Amino acid sequence: MKPEEKFRYLFGPVPSRRLGLSLGVDLNPAKVCTENCVFCQVGRTTELTVARKEWVPTAAVLAEFDRWAAARNPTDYVTLSGSGEPTMHAGFGEVLRHVKAAGPFKTALLSNGSLLWMPEVRREAAEADVVKVTLSAWDEASFARIHRPAEAVTFERLLAGERALREAFPGQLWVEVMLLPGYNDAPEQVKAIAELVKSLRAEAVHLNTTTRPAQAGVVVPRVPEAWLRTVAAWFSPVAEIPVFSGKAVSPVEMSDAGLIELLARHPLALEALAASGGAEVAAVEQRLAPLVAAGKLGIEAHDGVWMVRVVLA
Ligand code: SF4
Repeated sequence: MKPEEKFRYLFGPVPSRRLGLSLGVDLNPAKVCTENCVFCQVGRTTELTVARKEWVPTAAVLAEFDRWAAARNPTDYVTLSGSGEPTMHAGFGEVLRHVKAAGPFKTALLSNGSLLWMPEVRREAAEADVVKVTLSAWDEASFARIHRPAEAVTFERLLAGERALREAFPGQLWVEVMLLPGYNDAPEQVKAIAELVKSLRAEAVHLNTTTRPAQAGVVVPRVPEAWLRTVAAWFSPVAEIPVFSGKAVSPVEMSDAGLIELLARHPLALEALAASGGAEVAAVEQRLAPLVAAGKLGIEAHDGVWMVRVVLA
C-alpha cells in the first residue's frame, strides 16, 4: 500500500529535517491558522482565528490512521502538523492518545505555541513524546510583524504558554527559531531571542531559515548558512541546523497524487527531494517532467536553489 495514494488526513511519510521519517497527520483544512506568518509555505491564512473545534472529523482521522497502521508501514514518528496550527483541533489530544495506544509509535506535535496559554491545550500537548514550539520574536512588535497573528494571540501569551508547558511537560521540548533577513537576524535581535529560548530549558533548539518558497504573499530570502552557523552558538543548548535524513520513499516511485499531496504541504528543494528517497536528481526531474508539463508542478529557482512546488490554481 502506498499511503500517499489513499489518505485524506495522513501524508507522507515525509523526510523531516527534525524527526527522520515522519508520518504527517493534518488536522486543519487549508488554510485555517492562528497566525499568518510571512514565511508560511502552506499559503496565506484565509481563516485567521483562535477557535478550537473539530476542524476535520476526529473519527475519520483515527480510521485512516488505523488503516495505515494495519498495513505495517514504517515511520519514525507520527506527527501532528500540516496545513495550520494542530492545537486548534479540539480532538488533537485524542489523536495523540489513539496513536500511542495503537502500537510502538513515537508522537510529535509541531505547534506555533500560540494556544499553549490555555491549560487544556497544554494538558493535551503533553501527551506527545516531542513538542516542538516556535519562538522567533523577542517582543510584541517583532512577533506581530513576523507572525501576523489573530487578535487574541499575543507575544506575552505565547511566551507564558511555552514556559508553562516546559514546567509541566516531561517529554522532549524542542524550539524552532526561524530567522528571516530584515526581520530578526541582526545580532542584537538574535541575542534577545536566544535569551528567551534559554528560559524554556529546551532539549534541542533548531535554527532555520526559509528553505522553501513562502506562499503567504511575501518574498522572504534566506539567511546565509554561514550566519546561521555563527549564531547557533549563542543559543543554549547550542542550536542545531537540521539536515534531511534520507529515509523516505523514492520520489521516482511515488504516484502523481502522492507527489502533489507531499509537495502541496512541503515544497522541497529538488536535491533534497531526490536525496530524501535515495534517488538521482536527474531521475527525479524525469519523473516530475509530465507533471511540470501539465502545469501541476513548478520547478523554480529560489535564492539559488531549485525548488519543486505545486502550482496553485
Ligand atoms: S507557518 Fe505555521 S503557524 Fe505560521 S501561518 Fe503557516 S501554518 Fe500557521
